[in-house]
Amino acid sequence: MELSDDIEVLKGVGPKKAQQLHGLGLCSLFDLLTHFPRSYEDQSSITPIGRLEAGERATVAGVITGLQEKRAGRRGMVILTATISDGTGFLQLTWFNQKFLKQKLKTGRRIFASGRTAYAYGGQGQLAMSQMTSFEIVENEGADMEAKCGILPVYSAGENVKQSMLRALTEQLLGLAEAGELAVPEVIPEGVRQQYGLLPRLQACRQIHYPEDRQQVEKARYRLAFEELYLIQYGLMLLKKRRQERQQGIRFASCGSLTGGVLSSLPFRLTDDQQNAWQDICNDMERPVPMRRLVQGDVGSGKTVIAMLALVKAVENGFQGAMMAPTEILARQHFESFSGSLEPLGIRVALLSGRLTKKAKQEMYDRLAAHEIDIVIGTHALIQEDVSFANLGLVVTDEQHRFGINQRAVLEKKGNLVPDVLVMTATPIPRTLTLTVYGDLEVSLIRQLPPGRKPVRTFVRGRDRRELIYKFVLEEIKKGRQAYVVCPLIEMNEDSGLSSAQEVYEELTGGIFYGVKCGLVHGKLKQKEKEELMQEFYEGKIKLLVATTVIEVGVNVPNASIMVVENAQRFGLAQLHQLRGRIGRGEYASYCIFVAEERTEAARQRMEIMERTTDGFVLAEEDLKLRGPGQFFGSMQHGLPDLKIADVGQDIDILLRARQAAMETVKGGEGLPEVLAALQLQYREQFFNITEN
Ligand code: ADP
Ligand code: MG
Repeated sequence: MELSDDIEVLKGVGPKKAQQLHGLGLCSLFDLLTHFPRSYEDQSSITPIGRLEAGERATVAGVITGLQEKRAGRRGMVILTATISDGTGFLQLTWFNQKFLKQKLKTGRRIFASGRTAYAYGGQGQLAMSQMTSFEIVENEGADMEAKCGILPVYSAGENVKQSMLRALTEQLLGLAEAGELAVPEVIPEGVRQQYGLLPRLQACRQIHYPEDRQQVEKARYRLAFEELYLIQYGLMLLKKRRQERQQGIRFASCGSLTGGVLSSLPFRLTDDQQNAWQDICNDMERPVPMRRLVQGDVGSGKTVIAMLALVKAVENGFQGAMMAPTEILARQHFESFSGSLEPLGIRVALLSGRLTKKAKQEMYDRLAAHEIDIVIGTHALIQEDVSFANLGLVVTDEQHRFGINQRAVLEKKGNLVPDVLVMTATPIPRTLTLTVYGDLEVSLIRQLPPGRKPVRTFVRGRDRRELIYKFVLEEIKKGRQAYVVCPLIEMNEDSGLSSAQEVYEELTGGIFYGVKCGLVHGKLKQKEKEELMQEFYEGKIKLLVATTVIEVGVNVPNASIMVVENAQRFGLAQLHQLRGRIGRGEYASYCIFVAEERTEAARQRMEIMERTTDGFVLAEEDLKLRGPGQFFGSMQHGLPDLKIADVGQDIDILLRARQAAMETVKGGEGLPEVLAALQLQYREQFFNITEN
């Protein structure tokens, strides 16, 4: 048997059971093997009933001495109660609506039960246990009691797939593996295993499911988390290495008159950081290896112009370029600014909008296929749909977090020469972790903001100051500026007392902003309505825009110089930073005002940090400290495979070690069939390029 076999090969799993198991995501034997316990029940320490205390979690063992069945409530809920005794005392076990248990619960039978104890209802101080996390009725006396007394796994189970079923299956599976009937090959090279003190794979699997003791759980978890992270890192690095060795990319020529023309027509000079990023990109593009570069730059640091230059370089070499934006609004904005600068130079720029009619879309596809378009801008539909290019040379994608490794891989399958890829992200992460998260990409950083930016001044104020705040906003609008007001919710929520966008909009337009053109945008509007409003704001027709966080990503309205964030305590640092990045993009002094009730210490600290710094990299470090790595990373696993056991947050140590080990393995250049086989089995989607060569 192989780990890739269907779970149906196990005894006791027929077609119906198999289907139910598939429903839980358990399709292959591998899935079952890596269906790791959620927690454990320590039946190795059975508490004598006489020593139980109310409110305590415990496992007890006893003999059933009495049974009772009652009906209660209007619906006639069935309550089964068994009284058990172990010689030190009596305990009531209660089940609700589990009639089928009646045949199994017989006086004289032994039972193990785990759960939390409480005083029995009306039981004069007697203890009871209901909603047990597990129980085991021993049906044939003399059965293997020892075995049932260890530390037992608690799995995520389902309605039709019970805990006991899963236990029986994992037990069977491990038994087969230990008897050599099922191959569970080692996937970590022996040298690495020795060096990092890792348990052998099968032993770790045994110990994670049925540990001898707590210490073994830890050792097993260490080994398995290491394995998981090692495989992924190895995959990423090998992807990079294979690309460099084998993939035929495009060798673009050094920059000519078109890029030169665009550079000299810019109304500003590139900052040093922009210059360096542009140089990195040129070097990559001029090599025959496909470029895979990430440009990490804070909001407003000027990534767009770098993307534009790279696209022009592709066009200059007779290729087409595509740029993907995370939202339609942003795609439109890029389209407008690109066509403004590039059409005069004879570069044909097009917007592939989701709003085009079918016919117009088809026309656009035809023009792309006929190379009548040089640069196309759109949302990610650009690669998801079956768009074919005559001669695609470069893909730029905005916001890495919406563009996973597997999508990158899709591109590598299109066309014969592999196009270059440039990824832009405005989500800075602490430097030490960059390489780990973006394992297969080269990174350029843009830290500086363009000169002459007046830093946004940030204030945190209580709700009692709102009137003054909005007076100030009105004055700025009278001077010709525009303002955003950001609220956490769309509709009023009585309980929370939070301001909703709707409510604030009505309050402001009916009051102090009466007669000023205002707009309200939120996620529930139709795409088209949303865009029209954004467009009007962009054109300066709307002066004050009340919005939910839909404006978070990338919109660029240089004349907007004020932002008020209502209930700012509700937002995380990264989000506040992205929001604040919408202002301070023009020549005007800008103000960001957080209206906050700092009810918690964490909220107070967030506000204090926002007031103190506008540097996204500093904020990222602070965010990491404040939230702890677990939560910090939760939001940024960027298309990495789901992790079954490792937690990139808590396991940073393991991650760094696994990364080191993977790096050594890849460098060592050993052919590692077992590692490749594991990647093929487990992470096919992410790494199909390296496993199917
Ligand atoms: P982001 O990195 O957030 O995408 P943008 O590319 O939208 O930032 O740039 C923000 C603003 O800064 C734009 O209006 C852009 O024209 C301007 N800008 C970019 N680079 C420079 C520069 N070197 N000097 C002055 N202004 C610049
Ligand atoms: Mg941008």
